[in-house]
Amino acid sequence: MKYISTRGETAPQTFSQALLMGLAPDGGLMLPESYPHISAATLETWRDLSYAELAFQIISLFATDIPAADLRKIVNQTYTAEVFGSADITPVRRLHDGILIQGLSNGPTLAFKDMAMQLLGNLFEYVLAREGKTLNIIGATSGDTGSAAEYALRGKAGIQVFMLSPEGKMSAFQRAQMYSLTDANIHNIAINGMFDDCQDIVKALQNDERFKEEYYLSTVNSINWGRIVAQVVYYFKGYFAATSSNEEKVSFCVPSGNFGNVCAGHIARQMGLPIHRLLVATNENDVLEEFFKTGRYKPRGAAQTWVTSSPSMDISKASNFERFVFDLMDRDGTQIRALWAEVGTGKGFDLQLQLDKIHEQYGFAAAKSLHADRLRTIAAVYAEDGELVDPHTADGIKVARQLRQAGEKIVCLETALAAKFADTIAEAVGKDIPIPRPAALADLETLPQRVTVLPNNPTAVKMVIKETLAG
Ligand SMILES: *Cc1c(COP(=O)(O)O)cnc(C)c1O
Repeated sequence: MKYISTRGETAPQTFSQALLMGLAPDGGLMLPESYPHISAATLETWRDLSYAELAFQIISLFATDIPAADLRKIVNQTYTAEVFGSADITPVRRLHDGILIQGLSNGPTLAFKDMAMQLLGNLFEYVLAREGKTLNIIGATSGDTGSAAEYALRGKAGIQVFMLSPEGKMSAFQRAQMYSLTDANIHNIAINGMFDDCQDIVKALQNDERFKEEYYLSTVNSINWGRIVAQVVYYFKGYFAATSSNEEKVSFCVPSGNFGNVCAGHIARQMGLPIHRLLVATNENDVLEEFFKTGRYKPRGAAQTWVTSSPSMDISKASNFERFVFDLMDRDGTQIRALWAEVGTGKGFDLQLQLDKIHEQYGFAAAKSLHADRLRTIAAVYAEDGELVDPHTADGIKVARQLRQAGEKIVCLETALAAKFADTIAEAVGKDIPIPRPAALADLETLPQRVTVLPNNPTAVKMVIKETLAG
């Protein structure tokens, strides 16, 4: 299986090359040249597989340049009950009104990013060792990606991590989780700006071919193909948990920001998984909702990006969205270059003529959830089901309930645990309700923290990377 770029001007690459590459040299995102189709008979044989075995079956279709025995070992070492809290890895539970919740947040950083990042850490170490290479990972995080990457890459041979985060925009728990790591290969950088500014700096460094080559830069942001492919697996797992036969269809509701999570759902659907609809939930930053309702995609600047109580969705430029639009435009790289030139000028684009295709053929629908909705949903789930859900998951539940059609079975993806967002939970249900937290993280916020604060400027970040690697 070879990988191509959405912009159509990068020579085909192997899985391992696409994995280490991040953004393609032509500025596009890497995708397999076609999606493997899963027959009904194969789907039947996958229904009862363990998570790790299912992951092996799916990922081996994409990672064709990794020997099967090696891949199986990597996957078995990644998806364990020790790391993810239960043998199910992504257990599915039911709320009183039949909405299903798939728990993707039981890994080390209590957010769904661990599902992909833990695999990516092990894949990176394997590929680098095989090729005798080292790598410097640069990433941008609005909270959960960064900690998931750092916990997946801490102490790994041949890898340094430079993680950019928006100063003062993350929860106390999120900050503590990242900034308290003491591993020598982990470097936290707080930028005076928003998440999108951090992401722009990462893109600027990635687009600087000389710097990128001299310093072996790569990324683990959600544009990395390895993350998307790892996320495809839990759509299959969730589908099997929610159904008793492959005749049934299921919809997934996905709290969305960078479009990485739901992009994996789109790929699972293209592979033939019987997904009815993909429901995109946004918060106040509703650039994706606007697109799926009107066909207009108009990314916004930092000044129009709100800081909300579901901060990991405070994104107004959804980097993975380009992968879906590539499929929508029948994989025409020339059209993607033209559309993203319009994005580059700040104008955005209008695909209103494609709306029927977006809804009917690709199954997308969208709605948003605001601060008051979030609080109401957290309080309602606590009152009616006796459990605390995190603010992002609450956005998903709100949207699922709003868009649900008669008889539609919806799996809401739980993208984080309530423990990460204590302030919002207290605002929703009061300060006296104890929020469950894994014992290992009891004193997290009291640990010493280590972070370098920099202005919103790529040159400043380059300097720090040069100095660190020289030392
Ligand atoms: C990253 C994240 C999201 C958004 O996921 P995308 O793949 O960026 O769309 C939603 N909720 C939580 C808790 C997250 O960490």
